[in-house]
Amino acid sequence: MTTIDLVRVSKAYPGSKTPAVSDISFQVKEGEVLALLGPSGSGKTTLLRLIAGLEKPDAGTLFLEEREMCRPGHFVPPENRAIGMVFQDYALFPHLTVAKNVSFGLMRLSKSAQDKKVKEILSIVELSTFRDRYPHELSGGQQQRVALARALAPDPIVVLLDEPFSNLDPDMRNQMRADVSEILQKTGRTAVLVTHDHEEAFAMADKIVLLNEGRLEQQGTPEAVYHTPVNPFVADFVGQADFISGVVEQDRIETVIGALQNNSKFPSGTEVSVMIRPDDIDLVPNPAGTATVWGRQFRGSENLYTLRLSSGEIVHSSQHSLDVYPNQVKVDIRLKLTHTVVFEKMALNRPSS
Ligand code: ADP
Repeated sequence: MTTIDLVRVSKAYPGSKTPAVSDISFQVKEGEVLALLGPSGSGKTTLLRLIAGLEKPDAGTLFLEEREMCRPGHFVPPENRAIGMVFQDYALFPHLTVAKNVSFGLMRLSKSAQDKKVKEILSIVELSTFRDRYPHELSGGQQQRVALARALAPDPIVVLLDEPFSNLDPDMRNQMRADVSEILQKTGRTAVLVTHDHEEAFAMADKIVLLNEGRLEQQGTPEAVYHTPVNPFVADFVGQADFISGVVEQDRIETVIGALQNNSKFPSGTEVSVMIRPDDIDLVPNPAGTATVWGRQFRGSENLYTLRLSSGEIVHSSQHSLDVYPNQVKVDIRLKLTHTVVFEKMALNRPSS
């Protein structure tokens, strides 16, 4: 079943010349986690607020579980959309205990049904022993789990998470991503996550909708968006990407690091830019090699090498953390590419010195 069906939605804020979001369509199936990913100001929060019913679209429509939420003369308000929200700042009631915060949205149930639900949901978020504590007596991560429990308790059809980990320190953030994914899986809830962090989207989402300046650039699985970006913006936004020049020769693309398979529709003779990710190439030291080690960033689990090719172009290669080569060492490049991503030729990627 399709839980969210957004159809050609546009929205401009009053007084603004450019739309905050423009002609956006996507679907989220029951139990899926969708990440709305993009830089600041790309329209992520606006889409979340449109789904919640906190904003009205100027054009297009939205179906939640096949019920239309908005069209001219018809608008279902937020309280009738069966949506749970989790905010950046948790927004817990400071004067209420954990149990009371969680039961807040359950007023229509009998007291015993409320107690049963609170017990069940606190067990899922592993906070049963904290039920009588107040928010200020909890860590940031625990407060976030209470916020999630409160959003889940009324059995919403979808949970909306607005940059939910941005107030946590980096160690806690990783743990919370895993915890929240597990809780969403256990409860089978459909969720929409807003984030500007591609690693967060990759770690948590079944599907990504990537936005830029209010437009939808690409939607698909994290793997598809990473390995087969549709344009250089997407390629660059979801990970380290270098671009080297090449020329199409029928089923091959000739480049300075060798001939690559041509998956593109560009005709022979076209000058193109080929995307290279750090995991696409290996290096082997060789005094007769044509590439040069230009720098190394130690990243703990890997070394990220900057390599200068004979053409002057720069590429990066991730290597094992124990494989250390000094600057200026000559190397051969070994390609690990299984699929070549090619764009129209763009400005060359050269070092500044
Ligand atoms: P994101 O969540 O990706 O940072 P937003 O959806 O918040 O992006 O914003 C999209 C665009 O809409 C931005 O240009 C932003 O300045 C504008 N915007 C957001 N909220 C309002 C508002 N209440 N009034 C006017 N402009 C807004």
